[in-house]
Amino acid sequence: MRRDGEIDVLIAGGGFAGLTLAVALRQGLGPSFSITVADPSFGKSHTDDERASAIVAAARRLLATLGVWPAVAEQAQPILDMVVTDSQLDDTVRPVFLTFAGEVEDGEPFAHMIENRFLIAALEAKARETGIELRASAVAKFSPEQATTSDHFDVELADGTTVATGLLIAADGAHSSIRERAGIAVHGWDYGQSAIVINVGHERDHGGRAEEHFLPAGPFAILPLKGRRSSIVWTETTREAERIVALPAAAFHAELEKRFKLHLGDITSVGGRRVHPLGFYVARSFIAERMALIGDAAHVIHPIAGQGLNMGLKDVAALAEVIVDAARLGLDPGATDVLERYQRWRRFDTMAMGLATDGLNRLFSNRSAALRIMRDVGLGMVDRVPGLKRLFIREAAGLVGEVPKLLRGELL
Ligand SMILES: Cc1cc2nc3c(=O)[nH]c(=O)nc-3n(C[C@H](O)[C@H](O)[C@H](O)COP(=O)(O)OP(=O)(O)OC[C@H]3O[C@@H](n4cnc5c(N)ncnc54)[C@H](O)[C@@H]3O)c2cc1C
Repeated sequence: MRRDGEIDVLIAGGGFAGLTLAVALRQGLGPSFSITVADPSFGKSHTDDERASAIVAAARRLLATLGVWPAVAEQAQPILDMVVTDSQLDDTVRPVFLTFAGEVEDGEPFAHMIENRFLIAALEAKARETGIELRASAVAKFSPEQATTSDHFDVELADGTTVATGLLIAADGAHSSIRERAGIAVHGWDYGQSAIVINVGHERDHGGRAEEHFLPAGPFAILPLKGRRSSIVWTETTREAERIVALPAAAFHAELEKRFKLHLGDITSVGGRRVHPLGFYVARSFIAERMALIGDAAHVIHPIAGQGLNMGLKDVAALAEVIVDAARLGLDPGATDVLERYQRWRRFDTMAMGLATDGLNRLFSNRSAALRIMRDVGLGMVDRVPGLKRLFIREAAGLVGEVPKLLRGELL
């Protein structure tokens, strides 16, 4: 039982992970379960954020179940098929090793591309509409020791107010200060690679096709957006990425064209250039006393398979399910055994996906001729064995393993 003024859960971070968790808990437990999300970026415009993400089928089912998908469906571009090639930069013809027709079920594409700002705006609107308290302030201070001797935290926000809560969720992204304050270390490594991310316009229709070209410096992905536009995620060594983004427009365009090629016609526009250093990090623990980590605060992986955000939404679905189950039984949702169920569910799966993307990146981001032959034989085999290909598609769509209810499209 909570005391006066004490809330059930405080979520630090109103990005994809934090807002989705808030909406899922509200749907599962109603307004008597009090939820506050604190994020200094609330109310700020996201219009200059051109980043886009691949939302896999399982994540789309979750967003549909929460009633968020209809608000973004029009802006979402289904990925109708996908080609994978393995080539050198100057190859004139890129041999195709793997093709995927993009449906997990009849009429259900295995993924959609959507610009992040549309999805964040839809989640924020749903949170407001359902009466979740959104505080435009950062979580500044709390004492992790307090939760070892008491059944709540007193959390100080940057605006000087204090919130008492029975459960604190760290959804504050890759550089989580909440995780750090809780003394949770991360394991992992930098790749020495960075991703150049840009949106481009082109003359011809992409037809909903996604392309992943494994070039010696790393993957170069062309991901279809609504209209004659695509989102490019272009991996280079960090030094080369920094050199390329600093080039004048014409020289940058020439580098881009070398990799983009001309099958979609001329590149008609190039949006703002961004560079993201890439690494693989997993928090040593996803929980602490009265605390759980979700999304990038818990793990950051290589974007080679476009799974980072989708893994965060899997955390959300699993954590929402264990909290809702506990609260409905009248149990304390911040209790250690409840949070341990979440950690068992998510940490192993996260390591498996993180290591798989790490292995893929190592296998492809190199110039060894012997490795090139081996991986091309491997890709060719996957392409020819229909059962294996279907398994790959379902795995990439997030539909394999112990899938939480929301990701199956079921209400909590
Ligand atoms: C190049 C690149 C391409 C990618 N492509 C894909 C893709 O195609 N598909 C995919 O699934 N994923 C992709 N990802 C990963 C994806 O972008 C992230 O996994 C996702 O944005 C993480 O969401 P999050 O909510 O955990 O964290 P964030 O989006 O980082 O949100 C954290 C929030 O916490 C707030 N915050 C910070 N500190 C505090 C504090 N002290 N108190 C309160 N709030 C705080 C911030 O303001 C922010 O709003 C990609 C990543 C990169 C780098």
